Amino acid sequence: MRRVALVSGGSRGIGASCVRVLAESGYSVVFLYHLSDSRAADLARDLTSSGLDVSARKCDVQDPSDVGRVLSELLDTYRHIDVLVNNAGIAWTGLLTDMSVAEWDAVMNTDLRSVFLLSKAVLPGMISRRSGCIINISSMWGQTGASCEVAYSAAKAGVIGFTKALAAEVGPSGIRVNCVAPGVIDTEMNSRLSAEDIRALEDETPLGRVGTPDEIAKTVLFLADPASSFITGQVIGVNGGFVL
Ligand code: NAP
Repeated sequence: MRRVALVSGGSRGIGASCVRVLAESGYSVVFLYHLSDSRAADLARDLTSSGLDVSARKCDVQDPSDVGRVLSELLDTYRHIDVLVNNAGIAWTGLLTDMSVAEWDAVMNTDLRSVFLLSKAVLPGMISRRSGCIINISSMWGQTGASCEVAYSAAKAGVIGFTKALAAEVGPSGIRVNCVAPGVIDTEMNSRLSAEDIRALEDETPLGRVGTPDEIAKTVLFLADPASSFITGQVIGVNGGFVL
């Protein structure tokens, strides 16, 4: 039986690479997206036409009722989910003193509450089968903290704490929970940065460049694979040496 992977935020960027890399490795992949209807449909169509098993579901991952509805449909269809990749996220850049409560809540709910909601939805099935793994996408800013990204850094640090605590809680049930903390990766999330900002970040990165979405996806694939069967509760930095 094919292993089933669920990827949040799969319509573009790192999530879309995770969808493709997991599908090419033989997983049945379902991905969630929010606003990018046509990009999600194009991605699912492209991969399906190459013979891969990929489907897309529209789901606002910060909304408990949307997550509940979509997950119950998915569990009816697939019966089990072997791998959950909590990837969906948004950033907000600016001074904390300029941030509204609504903007704070949007970052916290998209980047951290979604991790709770989706993990809670898949865990009962994983626990009853004593098998499964959860991979959370944090950020190096969750490890170090970034000026003008206080809410994002707090949410991503929360994802790291969540990963470690849940790994301790569900390890005895045979479930692994790990975290990938990317450095600067070439996606639309960074389109707000000027060429000069990007050059400065490259200069700060020992490998001298930004990363690609595929470099994150391949780490996710490793953490999903039985090859990493004794790894749990870990934060894997994929950042070109930015955080040492
Ligand atoms: P991206 O290109 O901006 O893509 C974000 C993805 O998240 C999209 O698929 C988007 O779906 C989805 N999403 C956003 N809000 C959602 C919601 N409420 N419900 C469902 N899906 C939602 O971002 P990325 O760079 O690939 O980032 C992916 C993850 O890596 C994020 O958690 C990010 O924080 C983390 N990360 C990125 C970097 C980087 O440098 N790029 C570095 C460290 C960590 P729609 O398009 O359909 O709205």
